[in-house]
Amino acid sequence: MRTPYVNSRLAPMGTTIFAEMSALAAATGSINLGQGFPDTDGPEEVKQAAAEAVLAGRGNQYPPGPGIPELRTAVAEHQKRFYGLDFDPDSEVLVTAGATEAIAAALLALLEPGDEVVAFEPYYDSYAACIAMAGGVRVPVTLRPPGFRPDLDALRAAVTDRTRLLLLNTPHNPTGMVLTRAESEAVAELARERDLLVVTDEVYEHLTFGAEHIPLATLPGMRERTVTIGSAGKTFSFTGWKIGWVTAPPALVSAVRSAKQFLTYVSGGPFQYAAATALALPDEYFTTLRTDLRRKRDLLTAGLAAAGFEVFRPDGTYFVTTDISGLSEEDGMAFCRALPERCGVVAIPNQVFYDDTAAARSLVRFAFCKKDEVLAEAVQRLGRLHMG
Ligand SMILES: *Cc1c(COP(=O)(O)O)cnc(C)c1O
Repeated sequence: MRTPYVNSRLAPMGTTIFAEMSALAAATGSINLGQGFPDTDGPEEVKQAAAEAVLAGRGNQYPPGPGIPELRTAVAEHQKRFYGLDFDPDSEVLVTAGATEAIAAALLALLEPGDEVVAFEPYYDSYAACIAMAGGVRVPVTLRPPGFRPDLDALRAAVTDRTRLLLLNTPHNPTGMVLTRAESEAVAELARERDLLVVTDEVYEHLTFGAEHIPLATLPGMRERTVTIGSAGKTFSFTGWKIGWVTAPPALVSAVRSAKQFLTYVSGGPFQYAAATALALPDEYFTTLRTDLRRKRDLLTAGLAAAGFEVFRPDGTYFVTTDISGLSEEDGMAFCRALPERCGVVAIPNQVFYDDTAAARSLVRFAFCKKDEVLAEAVQRLGRLHMG
């Protein structure tokens, strides 16, 4: 749906698919495996921390511009604990209104009009819009099934003299691909060679199943050119809180902050205290999160395969991409629009995440961050597809 008033930068973006599909889910009483939000909240003690902050009057008024010191310290400690990275909480950490604002602020701050941004497609739906709002030009490098491994020659060929930055996402939504060490090193080598900045969206850093997550900033020569983005939404199952963060060297953090201050200025005061509590949870929390999600992945992927989908098993995130050709279907968009009526399940057509929509015509994404019994019911419903 388009409005006649929207400007030429945003007009091609239309309305996010999630609005349409979530409305369809509500209207038909379908199980919503479209949008990626958990149907179970994160840890009780983290909720308690948010409630206590509100009641004790912590963060109810504008928090400091860069984020409360407790959260900036907790982010720095998290980067040290999991990756051995040292960031100064005062000059190298910035709290944002979710990863979404961090992405927007980074692109608005770092791009001049006409600068090219190289990114793997499919991409998270805010990337194209934010590049456009910043006046940048997106240059996609397509990931293809079955493995969705990056074509490193194509990546190299996509970089020109106009390229300002690489926009990366690992673990990758929607494919579940996790960059290997060798792939990350190749990306890093290219960034160093062509003197590129890298903005890396690592919101699924803890949601991996056996594959190792390698922050780009840990590779030689990368810390100084990389803006790393994290979020409490996915790691702690509080997607409504919108607490994200950026870690980068001082000059890059300052640049991002110069845009962020005029977007939200600040946000989520009490939730920032709760996010600090969450980041300090023991290792066991992070291990259990992974074990639980791996079980959910296996439950849904087995069910999808039995229902006739070709399944591309994800190494990370809480999404699985499938191909519907085996069900004698061709167009993921038409399939997803009909699916709620046919069997009471909502999914997302991957083509909305591509410029080259033909590369994803028959691909459909399902989210598995749902209760086991909900996934079991979805699998049972999808089983009806066989019967036409
Ligand atoms: C969910 C998601 C985001 C947005 O994170 P918020 O913290 O909710 O703003 C950013 N990038 C990717 C790849 C995501 O899947």
